[in-house]
Amino acid sequence: MRKASVVASIILLLMVLGGTLAYNHMKKENVLTPSGTENKYVRGHNIPGKLYWAGSAYDKEVALTFDDGPETQWTPQILDILKAKNVKATFFVIGRQAEKYPEMLRRMVAEGHSIGNHTFDHADLTKMSPQEAEYEIDRCIQAVSRNTGKKPRLVRPPFGFHNTEVDNMIYAKNGLVILWSLDTQDWMGMSEEKIKTQVLSSMKNGFIVLQHDGENPKLGGSVQALPAIIDGLKAQGYAFVTIDELLETQPYYETEQQ
Ligand SMILES: [Zn+2]
Repeated sequence: MRKASVVASIILLLMVLGGTLAYNHMKKENVLTPSGTENKYVRGHNIPGKLYWAGSAYDKEVALTFDDGPETQWTPQILDILKAKNVKATFFVIGRQAEKYPEMLRRMVAEGHSIGNHTFDHADLTKMSPQEAEYEIDRCIQAVSRNTGKKPRLVRPPFGFHNTEVDNMIYAKNGLVILWSLDTQDWMGMSEEKIKTQVLSSMKNGFIVLQHDGENPKLGGSVQALPAIIDGLKAQGYAFVTIDELLETQPYYETEQQ
């Protein structure tokens, strides 16, 4: 009797597990909820074709992203490291910075990296009217386009602050909202060791890593950690891809549309 109920329990458990696996497989693009800092906005799952916290959990890929640049202290160092390691990344640039340092922007494109939109003024889009928010997005597109000919459609809202109106405005422009899976919190001046350990110990398939290359004197640890992060993740078997490769989408508008 007891043996029978144990067998029945095991069978039941296997059925539940099997069901869970099948369900997760169906949700291939939609399986990760990111860890990271507290955010006053709800962290949800991916919305395929629109909003992403991560790529596929079934591919051993990771996307490095750098926000708030370009500038001339950290951006060139990061580009040098990525070039030496033959890694492509994605830079979510601020339009105002792009206008100040167009040569950095052109170097990113020339070296195979993707450029995303981080607004013109690093604005909190949730504090603006939809028209003002769209103007922030458009001005950044124009700043990048003027200097590279590329019109980015991948948008990372500053601070990760977004809401339904902001998201819908971006979707209406055929843009994608790109958040992140792993926040290094490098902007606070984290040590090289801490950033490296955190990234290497918590990486999962499809993760989007958030680092910065803005005008912030505290980013030394982040930049110093980068070579070891890349080497460590390569040793773990990860391939490095841009956000558009991770999501199998286009990084730029192809026509005059924006
Ligand atoms: Zn930012």
